[in-house]
Amino acid sequence: MSEQIATVVKNAGSHYLLSELPQWDLFPATLRGKIRLKASEITNPIAVGDSVRYEWVADGAASDTHDGRRAVITEILPRRNYVIRRSTNLSRQAHIIAANVDMAYLVVSLYFPEVKLPFLDRILVTCELYGIPATVVLTKTDMYRELAAEEIAHFRSIYEGAGYPVIETSVVTGEGIAEIREACRGRVNLFSGESGVGKSSLIKALDPSLDPKIGNISAAHLQGKHTTSLYEMYPLSGGGYVIDSPGIRGFGLVDVEKEEIARYFPEMLRVSADCRFTPCTHTHEPGCAVKAAVEEGIIAPERYNSYLGMLEEDKKFR
Ligand code: ZN
Repeated sequence: MSEQIATVVKNAGSHYLLSELPQWDLFPATLRGKIRLKASEITNPIAVGDSVRYEWVADGAASDTHDGRRAVITEILPRRNYVIRRSTNLSRQAHIIAANVDMAYLVVSLYFPEVKLPFLDRILVTCELYGIPATVVLTKTDMYRELAAEEIAHFRSIYEGAGYPVIETSVVTGEGIAEIREACRGRVNLFSGESGVGKSSLIKALDPSLDPKIGNISAAHLQGKHTTSLYEMYPLSGGGYVIDSPGIRGFGLVDVEKEEIARYFPEMLRVSADCRFTPCTHTHEPGCAVKAAVEEGIIAPERYNSYLGMLEEDKKFR
């Protein structure tokens, strides 16, 4: 029996849809019974983006057959990275949103609604924690470009200074759309953003042929148990794939120790080797290279404040 490798593009509840990327030719598959969940707190054994081994077995009776054969997933290949979502900050129950992501596009608008930097920073920390490269996308620039040119430049300097690309976009003027479309080619791209930031419009602008349902998943629906079918991979007509997510949440406490948070701020990690003390919390210690970098303007005070906020919040939950 020959074994083949495919990518999970949808969890359809009782079965999964697979495709041998880069081909887009979907077929259903079930999970071989003996595959067990490795971590009991994970609610889904297989996530969209997972690379799996499967084999065809003869089965004339099943409804999901291809010429009397049925695809059975026999093995989940090791994940390069994955994004987990917890139902609450303290919950042990977690759901894998996506696996093997090449780029996470974190979609925010500077205004309408106004971006909350500590919230964005928490998500960026989460991306670092899960090993997923991130790009920050500013939407709706047509609405505030003239009024807030300095604010846009300041925002760019904060995040480019931290090491993240920033792309300014407008679905009205078309700004930035071709750039993202080009960057998506040949990659699995996760788009994440809270409702109201214009994420759905952005995805539609990238590929107008995509199902209009995409992007309309409300975060409220994630609380229930029917979370399995919400995440889905779509092919982009310009090349590459998109996974739409209502929003990556900040990390839960099981994933990161307080002493480790600074390691997930790339600009802090770069200088922290020069701190006099190890470990250093970069708060009160003399000879702290991170604090010095903030004072010299090398590290944005906004990012440092987000870091302090995360330490505080961490204390609160412990
Ligand atoms: Zn330090």
